[in-house]
Amino acid sequence: MLVIEGVHKSFIVPAGEVVALRDIQLQVEKGELVTFLGPSGCGKSTLLKIVAGLDTSYEGTVRLNGRVIAGPGIEKGFIFQEPRLFPWLTVEKNIAANYSLRDPQVRRQVDELVELVRLKGFEKAYPRELSGGMAQRAAIARALLRKPEVLLLDEPFGALDAFTRSHMQEVLLDIWENNRTTMLFVTHDLDEAVFLGQKVVIMDPRPGHIRKVIRIDLPYPRKRAGTAFQEMRSRVLGEFEKVEEPAFDVGAGI
Ligand code: ADP
Ligand code: MG
Repeated sequence: MLVIEGVHKSFIVPAGEVVALRDIQLQVEKGELVTFLGPSGCGKSTLLKIVAGLDTSYEGTVRLNGRVIAGPGIEKGFIFQEPRLFPWLTVEKNIAANYSLRDPQVRRQVDELVELVRLKGFEKAYPRELSGGMAQRAAIARALLRKPEVLLLDEPFGALDAFTRSHMQEVLLDIWENNRTTMLFVTHDLDEAVFLGQKVVIMDPRPGHIRKVIRIDLPYPRKRAGTAFQEMRSRVLGEFEKVEEPAFDVGAGI
């Protein structure tokens, strides 16, 4: 349903040309949860912005359900690293945003989403009263209310502490199993990529390109401590060890 073909993107900077993406080919099926893993500068955000329609100056084609992506639209939800809520609106009004909560259908959907992202009791709270994880859950609920065909998440849990982060990963999987929204999830965290993704797209920098796509054939919920998970994690890590310089901090446990 999402087809990326021959995408090439470069930026002209004072020092010359930076190739952010080179010959990207990828297909994502409807309902798939795909994670993109790679060190900083490998073009993850650039690729996500292209799919979002936020950047349209590139070579190649990106099609969503057969149609070339020409700009941003409600069929594509985008979650940034920081929640980007309206500080002057309550949680429920942030989720509803330009829809009216007086519309009973909107009211019902907002209530369902509040439940789904585990913010029950915080509907009337303001963003300043929320923790980072709660604010990000409100942002995800806002995106979901628009029923996007594809949800694009750019290191959405990168600013959260490890405990909140693993809770958020569980909430995200809950959401995905509930409504099967196609998700493209960018991270530089190996564990997160393997824990969430049905497929991990491994990217390398200079120039940004796809090194390999690894299918993670493990049922959900996944057990981090389990042998199957550890084996899969080692396999993905093994791909990075082929790079000469250490690509990123691989964390403990391996
Ligand atoms: P990632 O999200 O994986 O960290 P980015 O997509 O942000 O990587 O960046 C890929 C490359 O493109 C980097 O070398 C970065 O410096 C460069 N780049 C990204 N955005 C711009 C821009 N607006 N102008 C110039 N160079 C950019
Ligand atoms: Mg980025």
